[in-house]
Amino acid sequence: MQARSEHKVALVTGGSRGIGRAVVLRLARDGHDIGLCYRSDEAAAEQVAEEVRALGRQVFAQRVDVTDRPQVKGFLAAVEGHLGPVGVAVTSAGITRDRPMVLMGDEDWDSVLRTNLDGTFNLVRAAVFGMMKRGAGSVVTLSSVAGVKGNATQTNYSASKAGIIGLTQSLAKEVGRYGIRVNAVAPGFITTDMTAALSDKVSSELTARIALGRFGRPEEVGDLVGFLASDRASYITGQVFQIDGGLIL
Ligand code: NAD
Repeated sequence: MQARSEHKVALVTGGSRGIGRAVVLRLARDGHDIGLCYRSDEAAAEQVAEEVRALGRQVFAQRVDVTDRPQVKGFLAAVEGHLGPVGVAVTSAGITRDRPMVLMGDEDWDSVLRTNLDGTFNLVRAAVFGMMKRGAGSVVTLSSVAGVKGNATQTNYSASKAGIIGLTQSLAKEVGRYGIRVNAVAPGFITTDMTAALSDKVSSELTARIALGRFGRPEEVGDLVGFLASDRASYITGQVFQIDGGLIL
């Protein structure tokens, strides 16, 4: 077991790549030790862990399916055992299964709701209990502009991301008195594996609708999450922050 440090511990789901990875690196640069989980790519997770160590911070990485409640509880216990009490929790694990609703299979609906919404609930419920006992904490959930405005072919994804907004706002009202802040980040189109599947034609049509004329970078979302996790955001809770380059105005 590694020695506990005096630094705050941040837990990030889906930390092996994309936005989650950028959040991990931002929080590590801001002085947090990191507990991260990932679904399958151990090599990618180990690479991120190495980058965290190179920044001088401690890291604990574990393969966890966020839909599996015992695994999520075990992950939190393992992170706290290795690094100490969790002060920041960020839920970036998420998937898409896009189809028009009439063609959407049960599995398309169930897997997206289970991963995105249930997975957020599973992790946040586990993490927030200790934060309440300690009287401090910051939770940042990953929603989406699709959860704010809806998006054709994404009824499953939009419902899950709108659900995350409801979870975020309600929890903020529940736990504010314990010194815990809960906020949601709603990205537009960010360049990650999730958007890599878009055809060139669709990508350029989407880009034409973005005021800043480009997709966002994961690091730009990481910077916003880092701010919300920090004491600089000490009077901000229950909010949804769109970071979409002016896609939805
Ligand atoms: P990504 O596909 O690059 O990464 C997703 C991460 O989630 C991976 O690390 C994967 O291992 C993890 N994951 C998926 N299912 C999991 C499970 N069952 N258990 C544990 N981990 C699991 O995606 P991304 O683009 O980095 O997206 C991160 C978050 O931001 C997601 O919640 C996504 O919905 C949201 N988001 C992304 C965009 C975008 O344009 N990329 C836009 C809006 C919202």
